[in-house]
Amino acid sequence: MKNLKIAIQKSGRLNEKSVQLLKNCGLDFENYKSSLITTVANFNLEILFLRDDDIPGYVEQGIADLGIVGENVIDETASKVNYLQRLGFGKCTLKLAVPRDSAIKEIKDLNGKSIATSYPVILKSFLEEYKISADIQTISGSVEIAPGLGLSDAICDIVSTGGTLKSNGLKPFADVRSSEAILIGRDGLQDNEILNELLQRIQSVL
Ligand code: ATP
Ligand code: ZN
Repeated sequence: MKNLKIAIQKSGRLNEKSVQLLKNCGLDFENYKSSLITTVANFNLEILFLRDDDIPGYVEQGIADLGIVGENVIDETASKVNYLQRLGFGKCTLKLAVPRDSAIKEIKDLNGKSIATSYPVILKSFLEEYKISADIQTISGSVEIAPGLGLSDAICDIVSTGGTLKSNGLKPFADVRSSEAILIGRDGLQDNEILNELLQRIQSVL
């Protein structure tokens, strides 16, 4: 039987729990930081280690059959992939936040303001829903320092505990979307025996 390929995050917040989940499913594989692809010894599966942002695209194009990635990344990349299973880890919320002394108190106050984010696609559709016209400043990281530097009036960023916001003098005032890690699959995987076995094992681990 042909091996399936699953893409997981190479390093970062989802890496360890993704590896642990697969190990808990009884899969036997080496997890060297240096190798980008590894074959499971006792199951028809190969594991690809990728940047999380690239995972939905690999699955959409069918280069990987499966992937484990945050819902926030799936939405941001607007990828056409199938949701197979919620995994219960990597929980976080994309929130709007402003400096503690800001006059912005609620969503409608964002009209005409600028917002820094690494999630322009999700933010744009959120603002459209609320009929808010704001200037989206897309930056790839360290979003929390943008208001202090004068780049933006507000930020839209991923929050789990809120500690980073607080230590940068920011307070959250609205939730944009919540997210957790999801097992995604490419089109055309229906009734695949390897997938069915893996799904069963994942569900019993969860
Ligand atoms: P990569 O190098 O793979 O691109 P990254 O820096 O984009 O990694 P991480 O910070 O490792 O991403 O976060 C991966 C995912 O973990 C996020 O997309 C999100 O779904 C989830 N997550 C959970 N809690 C947090 C948090 N506090 N901050 C950021 N992401 C979080
Ligand atoms: Zn990333």
